[in-house]
Amino acid sequence: MRTLITGGAGFIGSHLCERFLAEGHAVVCVDNFITGRPDNVRHLVDNPKFRVIVHDVSRPLHVDGLLDNVLHFASPASPVDYQKSPIQTLKVGSLGTHVALGIAKAHGARYLIASTSEVYGDPEVHPQTEDYWGHVNPVGERSMYDESKRFAEAMTMAYHREHNVQTHIVRIFNTFGERMRLDDGRVLPNFVGQAFRGEPLTVYGDGSQTRSFCYVSDLVDGIYRLLHSDYHLPVNLGNPGEMTILEFAEEILRLTGSHSRIVHRPLPADDPKQRKPDISLARRLLGWEPQVSREEGLRRTIEHYKKKLGK
Ligand code: NAD
Ligand code: UDP
Repeated sequence: MRTLITGGAGFIGSHLCERFLAEGHAVVCVDNFITGRPDNVRHLVDNPKFRVIVHDVSRPLHVDGLLDNVLHFASPASPVDYQKSPIQTLKVGSLGTHVALGIAKAHGARYLIASTSEVYGDPEVHPQTEDYWGHVNPVGERSMYDESKRFAEAMTMAYHREHNVQTHIVRIFNTFGERMRLDDGRVLPNFVGQAFRGEPLTVYGDGSQTRSFCYVSDLVDGIYRLLHSDYHLPVNLGNPGEMTILEFAEEILRLTGSHSRIVHRPLPADDPKQRKPDISLARRLLGWEPQVSREEGLRRTIEHYKKKLGK
């Protein structure tokens, strides 16, 4: 088996590369390092079954040889990252999705696209089920990401319906783990970095907004199962354990043993007030549910950063 992974040098992509190599696949990682890093896959480069192509997937790409699977994970994913590069984000969700689908079609490969809980916007349905169409501001400060992913889903369904490509859509809810960039601006790297540096933890707004955090190995396992299913409509993957961001800050302080204070900063525009996946479909279809508790995942992640920072 040979699998192409766009965004393979990113946080989730690098874990996917590891998993597919462990399953015996040859893996081609395509990345332009806009938000990922060569370091994320450095431990894989001596494996003869692993190859990196440095390329912007929003531009045409020809891949020689057989391909069995194409996983399209390239896209800035942190609000800070995608707001810094709005046009690149819209391009990789639209043109990049088109290129990746074209590769899958040419090779007769299975295709899986990383979509997101952001397609639900600031949701009015809670928890979010796949049949909810969302509440998205099409011109707001998160629109470059939300609308590019909504377009990407539509393009994926069009390739399935018109060209019969075996496509899959995963709607990923907040996922964390080793190899997130400490400066990517997302809540976990921010809080852990601040806790280690003895700086105050910056809770945006009053911290009553909720998120549900999934450890990366669980997500990767769900993706692997979905790729091998016969289901083509979107599937939520995430950990339904919901908490407020203020509770999350307190949990990070407890697990790092930090004495940092908590301070409040303005809530960014269109920040979703609540988010929690309904994973009934994934349970039924894939026999999947998270195996690693949030606390255990956080312990592993904090240990990783401790080693990295020599703490
Ligand atoms: P990340 O920023 O760590 O990884 C994204 C990777 O894509 C990076 O390596 C980046 O360099 C690469 N990339 C971006 N644009 C590219 C382009 N034009 N050509 C080639 N490579 C490009 O982010 P992540 O958290 O690993 O997210 C991976 C995917 O999962 C994204 O598509 C994201 O939207 C999706 N997702 C992630 C989460 C999460 O909680 N981590 C939640 C929902 C969806
Ligand atoms: N957040 C926060 N402090 C930070 C970073 C983020 O309070 O230093 C909040 C943010 O406003 C949001 C939640 O944490 O409500 C998750 O933010 P993140 O950027 O990780 O991802 P999102 O789920 O918003 O895409």
